[in-house]
Amino acid sequence: MPRAAYIHVPFCRHKCGYCNFSVVADRDDLIERYLKVIDLELCRLDCPAIDTLFVGGGTPTHFDAEQLQRFLHIVRERFQLSSSCEWSMEANPEDITPEKVAMLGHHGVNRISLGVQSFNVDKLRMLERGHSPEDAVNAVQTVADLIDNVSIDLIFAAPGETLSDWQHDLEVADGLPIKHVSTYALTFEKGTSFWSRRARGDLASASENCEIEMYQAARQALCGAGFQHYEISSFARDGLQCQHNLNYWQGRGWYAVGPGAARFVDGRREVNHRSTTTYLRRMESAESPTAEQEAITREQYARERAAFGVRMIAGIDLEVLESETGIPLRVICRDAINRSLSDGLLLKPAPSRIKLSERGILFADTVASRLLG
Ligand code: SF4
Repeated sequence: MPRAAYIHVPFCRHKCGYCNFSVVADRDDLIERYLKVIDLELCRLDCPAIDTLFVGGGTPTHFDAEQLQRFLHIVRERFQLSSSCEWSMEANPEDITPEKVAMLGHHGVNRISLGVQSFNVDKLRMLERGHSPEDAVNAVQTVADLIDNVSIDLIFAAPGETLSDWQHDLEVADGLPIKHVSTYALTFEKGTSFWSRRARGDLASASENCEIEMYQAARQALCGAGFQHYEISSFARDGLQCQHNLNYWQGRGWYAVGPGAARFVDGRREVNHRSTTTYLRRMESAESPTAEQEAITREQYARERAAFGVRMIAGIDLEVLESETGIPLRVICRDAINRSLSDGLLLKPAPSRIKLSERGILFADTVASRLLG
């Protein structure tokens, strides 16, 4: 059974223009109902023992102090957290106070993932974030004083951003007491206001060359600052890789609760309703919160493990995957692997190991989709 769990908290003060998560903005009137319902959904899991717990959103720290206290209490009641459990919580800089951080630490949260995105005032405004560069720096310091393992998210290739703007973000990050950075190029997702604004010609995406240049700048700056690049978008100091995400990339199962939450348990993938109000209504009337479900075949599972695993910079051992899944990946993925080797996207550092080449790191999605077949 899974040893990892995800809880989705959908509340945000404002919906950022690029955000495509399952989120409700300015609907704090739903929080009471959410707290009751999340307890119900967690009850159904029957108190599993877990090694990693990730509370994401939305903005989990959007709860006020009393709501947060109740939420944390519910979570502790409904899981058996192992003694070394990595308990991550996403937070936005504008919500961080020493009191809130102390409360999180007191309940066992030992990793905070801060949605910093940038330290540049114009870029933050452009991304419609609710914090200033000073808020972001202060939030990192406040968290790090109490919870050592701080991760930040940074976005690059925002409209109008220059390489030197981005290098400035990386320099500021380097001077902060952080253990982990996740960094992504801005994407324009259908259904977001950024998508419509781009269609109207209000916003322009960065060119592919610009994205690549910025990504390479991130790799150079973060590795130069002592971070280990361990997954396409993830960099860790002091060996503090995100154990919860490793669980996903290594194809282990996980529980997930809350609106829009996707889980993988016992060979089945299920996704809850994305709409918070529909999710609440269904749970309150004792209906299933699940909107989609699919049984994953053994072959699909093996292919997905290869496709996600190859995102790890160290690559994957196909012999190990074959013995764990019972599927002869080297046979069924022979063409995909050979094509990627001859395109220079993959390397074969050992007879049964494959890993992305320098060029392959830039085109990991191509390699992954070939492995998926
Ligand atoms: S704060 Fe995060 S989750 Fe909330 S709307 Fe903005 S990007 Fe989405």
